[in-house]
Amino acid sequence: MFCEKCGNEVHDEAVICVSCGVPIGSSPVSNNNVNMEPLEGGVKFVSFCFPIVGAILFFVHQSSAPQKSTDACHMALWGVGFSIAINIFVAIGGGF
Ligand SMILES: [Zn+2]
Repeated sequence: MFCEKCGNEVHDEAVICVSCGVPIGSSPVSNNNVNMEPLEGGVKFVSFCFPIVGAILFFVHQSSAPQKSTDACHMALWGVGFSIAINIFVAIGGGF
């Protein structure tokens, strides 16, 4: 490939241009606008208590913030599992 600044031919795996010293291949990283931050703790708690909120967040963040989407999905599943477990305990215990 060629240096974007001076046009000198550089090795494909080169980090900087040997001719002018400009960094090579650093621009694609800054173009990456995918948000990889985890879901905020408070939002996780809400997703856990109200799985429907987690399900909505899962679809909302799916393309722009995959990590948040995954976290929301997990918390919603935990919330569903937890409420089912509670229902089973109540059913077995007869409501005490
Ligand atoms: Zn150069």
